[in-house]
Amino acid sequence: MPKSAVSPLAKYRSMRDPQKTPEPFTSNDIDHDNLVFVIQKHKATALHYDFRLQVYKAMPSWAVPKGPSLDSTVKRLAMKTEDHPLDYRHFEGIIPEGEYGAGPVIIWDYGTYLPEIEVAKGQRKIIKEKKEGEKIMAAGIEKGEIKFFINGKKIKGSFALVKTKGFAGPNAWLLIKHKDRFAKEGYDAKDFPKSAKTAKTIEDLQK
Ligand code: MN
Repeated sequence: MPKSAVSPLAKYRSMRDPQKTPEPFTSNDIDHDNLVFVIQKHKATALHYDFRLQVYKAMPSWAVPKGPSLDSTVKRLAMKTEDHPLDYRHFEGIIPEGEYGAGPVIIWDYGTYLPEIEVAKGQRKIIKEKKEGEKIMAAGIEKGEIKFFINGKKIKGSFALVKTKGFAGPNAWLLIKHKDRFAKEGYDAKDFPKSAKTAKTIEDLQK
């Protein structure tokens, strides 16, 4: 079956148990101790921020039209999109005309993350062990709710991604900042337009 005919969910399922099924993606760039994330600001037909969290060698992804906020009173719509290969996290540049998602992409933020589990109402525990964390993430994505602690250049702290109950369609999730010492009232991603890697903006790439 050609790769394009595999649904994201089918790919995701085959990714869940790398012992039993071959992984759909390979990578030459694995951090053996940490799980990584990237947020790529992407000006395609509409501007959005692609939020990608590593699970095994893939990056389950959500397109967040307004980008992440550190304001814990804000819920950001996050549309689940196709898993991306782990190595894609390094991409900054222009997706050429005629290709899907044509337009400029910057690495808006990147770094590592730690999965979290809720141990009591409003109390979370960080999972430091990478393999255990990946299992928790895989199960959580399937279930429609994940929690994680982001260690980026721009954003830090605990977040949740929660699948909505049908509101805005079957792929609609919400990205929510938990209340912690990294929460910031009024934080808006658009106020921080530069790449965390190169300091370039989307507009710089379009020049
Ligand atoms: Mn995109």
